[in-house]
Amino acid sequence: KKTNINEMVHGVVNTFRIKVESQKGSIVEKLEAKNPYAHVDEVHFTNVIFNLLDNALKYKRGTPVFQVKTWNRPTGIVITVEDNGLGISKENLKRIFEKFYRVPTGNVHNVKGFGLGLAYVKKIVEDHGAEIKVESELNVGTKFEIFLPLKSNKEWKKNIKFS
Ligand code: ATP
Ligand code: MG
Repeated sequence: KKTNINEMVHGVVNTFRIKVESQKGSIVEKLEAKNPYAHVDEVHFTNVIFNLLDNALKYKRGTPVFQVKTWNRPTGIVITVEDNGLGISKENLKRIFEKFYRVPTGNVHNVKGFGLGLAYVKKIVEDHGAEIKVESELNVGTKFEIFLPLKSNKEWKKNIKFS
């Protein structure tokens, strides 16, 4: 069974909307992927989007304004989560997907964490044969982009294994 990626993303955004709006912030949704169906593990993939939004809120800078988008490339579906938060320096950006890594200055809000969220995100994304990229600028914001190729999506069940 294929999952409607737009609906899945919308579901996660909805659970965050109240939290973000209670901090006078907003989430802009542009779910523009056409024929947005893909073979994904719904539980894990929902957690992936949840983790990205959780970070966006934890590492915010002033009023949080997030953009969540889906769209098509000829070879697959793209999901992006973009924030206007603290941003991450080039040097630290190289390490954010490592287990237990936390940016040393990331606790300006005294934010707690295990440094595991993004390691999980990367693992799940890659086990689906998908790709994750990040762009960030300190004191501007961060953008995560997940690329779900149409071809290899059927293979995720074989690939997922936790070690
Ligand atoms: P956990 O998710 O396990 O509770 P965590 O949030 O610290 O803990 P990750 O989600 O793996 O761990 O993120 C690693 C580090 O990357 C964070 O500690 C933070 O410094 C930085 N980071 C992640 N997402 C963002 C973001 N959207 N904006 C700014 N910094 C971020
Ligand atoms: Mg996190």
